[in-house]
Amino acid sequence: MHLSQPLEECDWVPRPRLTALRRLGIETVEDLVTHFPRRHEDRREFAGFPHEESDVPICICGEVVKTSVRRFGGWKKIFEATLQEADANALSQPLVLRWFNLHYVQKMIATGQQLVVFGKPRLRGPRICMEHPEFEVIESDDELSIHFRRITPVYPATEGLPQRVFRGLVFHALQHLGEAEVETLLPQKFDRGARRAALQQIHFPDSDETLAAARDHLVFSEFFGLQMTIASRRAELATRPGESHCGAGELLEHFLRALPFDLTDAQTRVLDEVRRDLASQQPMNRLLQGDVGSGKTVVAIGAMLLAVEAGFQAALMAPTQILAEQHYAVLCRWLEPLGVRLALRTGSRSEETGALPLFERAVEDARDTGSAGCQPAVFGSLPNTSRGVSEPRYSRRRLPHFERPWAKYMITFTTSDRRDLSPAARTVVLQSILRWKDQRYELFAACVMPDHVHLLIEPMIEREDDRGEPMFFGLTKILHTIKSWTANKINEADRANGTAVWEKEWFDRIIRSETDLQEKFQYITRNPWASGVAAPDADYPWVWYPRAKRERGRDDPAPGSSRQAAANSRLAACAPQIIIGTHALLYENVSFEKLGLVVIDEQHKFGVSQRARLSAREPTPDVLVMTATPIPRTLTMTVYGDLDVSVIDEMPSNRGRIVTAVRETSKLPDVLAFLRGELEQGRQAYVVYPLIDESEKLDVKAAAAEYELWQERLRPFRCELLHGRIPALEKQAIMERFRRGETSVLISTTVIEVGVDVANATVMLVENAERFGLAQLHQLRGRIGRGEHKSWCILLSSEKSGETLAKLSVLEKTSNGFEVAEADWDQRGPGDLLGTAQSGLPALKLGNLKTDMQLMQRARAAATAIMEWDPKLEAPENQRFRKLIVEERGRTFSNVS
Ligand code: ADP
Ligand code: MG
Repeated sequence: MHLSQPLEECDWVPRPRLTALRRLGIETVEDLVTHFPRRHEDRREFAGFPHEESDVPICICGEVVKTSVRRFGGWKKIFEATLQEADANALSQPLVLRWFNLHYVQKMIATGQQLVVFGKPRLRGPRICMEHPEFEVIESDDELSIHFRRITPVYPATEGLPQRVFRGLVFHALQHLGEAEVETLLPQKFDRGARRAALQQIHFPDSDETLAAARDHLVFSEFFGLQMTIASRRAELATRPGESHCGAGELLEHFLRALPFDLTDAQTRVLDEVRRDLASQQPMNRLLQGDVGSGKTVVAIGAMLLAVEAGFQAALMAPTQILAEQHYAVLCRWLEPLGVRLALRTGSRSEETGALPLFERAVEDARDTGSAGCQPAVFGSLPNTSRGVSEPRYSRRRLPHFERPWAKYMITFTTSDRRDLSPAARTVVLQSILRWKDQRYELFAACVMPDHVHLLIEPMIEREDDRGEPMFFGLTKILHTIKSWTANKINEADRANGTAVWEKEWFDRIIRSETDLQEKFQYITRNPWASGVAAPDADYPWVWYPRAKRERGRDDPAPGSSRQAAANSRLAACAPQIIIGTHALLYENVSFEKLGLVVIDEQHKFGVSQRARLSAREPTPDVLVMTATPIPRTLTMTVYGDLDVSVIDEMPSNRGRIVTAVRETSKLPDVLAFLRGELEQGRQAYVVYPLIDESEKLDVKAAAAEYELWQERLRPFRCELLHGRIPALEKQAIMERFRRGETSVLISTTVIEVGVDVANATVMLVENAERFGLAQLHQLRGRIGRGEHKSWCILLSSEKSGETLAKLSVLEKTSNGFEVAEADWDQRGPGDLLGTAQSGLPALKLGNLKTDMQLMQRARAAATAIMEWDPKLEAPENQRFRKLIVEERGRTFSNVS
């Protein structure tokens, strides 16, 4: 038997169990033996029967002497089994096991059975009881050797697999696993065959000590693998050819002089660090940590200006649309006076002051043909779509694929029976396509041929889901609307009610590269001429592509100059220098001409894989990652292990104080009175309600109800509701009204969590604050205290438990993000803190990022040593690490293309 053997091939695994194992993600012997126990029970000796209550669970063994079922409250049932000590004496007291409404337990337990139970003894009247204990029925002596009389593993939920069956399988696997078959994963000096032994001991330990040692070994291996991946990524980045992206700094000087404040010392220091990185030939990979409000944006702008001055484009990416819009507004205010060209690119709106290179070029091509954007007929060189000839019939959706975020598609749909559309009908179709342009999709090209239609589109964000992830308009919906709208209009005109105008099916192709996009663009815009539907010199009015820039005509090429040169210089003159956007930018391969610097704001919403995608670009841009969520060191070492770190540890001095207060919901009237007082003085407020937890679906009705309630409470002040389901454009309008002070209060979900900056807002009221994590509350609190006014963060909690209030009171005591992060970490653990999926960390099977900090440090040192000695992992003894890394990457960075 070997580790990678599929369990399917193992005859000792009962066939019916395979499905259940697969459900747990266990397919191979290795999966099985690395499905680690959740805890162990010391069954070497069973505890004596309890005589009193205890909060410590105990494990005892006895014989069932009686069972009974009692009813209460109508249909509810209590099943009781009385357990007696093996060698009972006059003093021994039987233990009563109780289960409420668990029918299956009743079927499993019968008198005469030997039972092992694990639970907390409780006093119920005169009797000692255990309620819902974990239990196992001992069926044969054989089993005793695996399941009892030892330190026994208890596995995490094994749906459909009884503990005992699972334990038996692991036991069997380990028995047959030779030492030679378990490859060590560690450098020689740490291993020496220890992995095999560790696997044995972690499941079936000889003693508590060997268990601890085994765990250490396995955690260390796990961390080592992780650190090797990180170290290799780092080594790889370091060897990438980069460029210097740093200008002389004049532009930066202008900017700093124009700022209404001086940089703090910390800001200046960090800006210098960034500047050095920019100037260096090696690609920058820097993490900028700074508490909410510490002024990271200004540093980012400074960095971007340096890149711009050196002739590069810079991109600023924000996790949400609201934030991107806000950055755009701030940058416009500060940078437009300096003559810097800015563009906003979000999923649902693109507001370029410069042109996208693609269309500059394509439109330029189109101009070659003369008037009205007519294109030359290019017979032969393009696929011919005219009827009759080598006509591809787009009758079925071929090419199955999933619709992808930020993807562009070429879509083709045909008329029913391929009948010809009248010119009027074609106009209707084109109009309808333009009608939803920029509402549901970005349109790059459209052509209404007599019997079919081509579109080149990128679906836009329809809304954000509860986690702020964008949700896109689906092709089906887009197409359906166009088809039904036009069908109605056309039938109306033809008085042909109900006749099918379109074929039901359509054909779509995802655009895979810029070349592909160019090709499709050319194809669509030339289709009428290429197919002979229009004569070479004739106009065909049902072709559309963006020509706004041309109409503006501001940099028309000078007569006589070569067109290409003109196009190039025009590009240079129009291309935006700083592009601001959401994740969209990450997948947007088209809009960058000369990308030198990428700033990622609020990194905790971006993952490692997205970052990797960026550094995979050629040539590699400098990357600056900013986060307001300070994280403990072990985590930095892991999540951001491949980054250099800068910290802004000083707040601008002009900040009003923020007072934080935790209150019970019963104090709401007082809180309201206070809030009204602030509003009367012209201040603004946020009310955040926790309807959306990560897992919960936002109930729009509930949100609306909540909103009405607040409107009532705060009358006559104007409130508005903001949540993820509101369409992007509307959301933006709502934020704008709040920013301008037209609205006094925003009733919101956590969509306002990051970065939103309205200086006049002085109250942050969080309802059901206990449902948020501390770090998140700290983020929310960062929305206020941004101006000179004193601000208040009021955390309402409906729970009266002292524990909850104590937890929240951490925020009353400190406003330091690092302290909050540590406390949060203590309260929640790393998984919750970052969300492993988001952080791009592979899920750890065994290690704990907090408690195993030391092991992580050692693993990091070991990995770094290896990578320093052999950065490309060429040495023969390092081949297995190389393999490890490739596998690890396959898991972690699977979406890096
Ligand atoms: P964050 O670090 O949370 O992203 P921002 O960059 O949004 O913080 O800055 C918060 C506010 O502080 C902004 O309004 C910004 O203009 C202002 N600010 C930044 N630096 C300074 C400074 N040195 N002195 C005073 N105000 C500053
Ligand atoms: Mg910010």
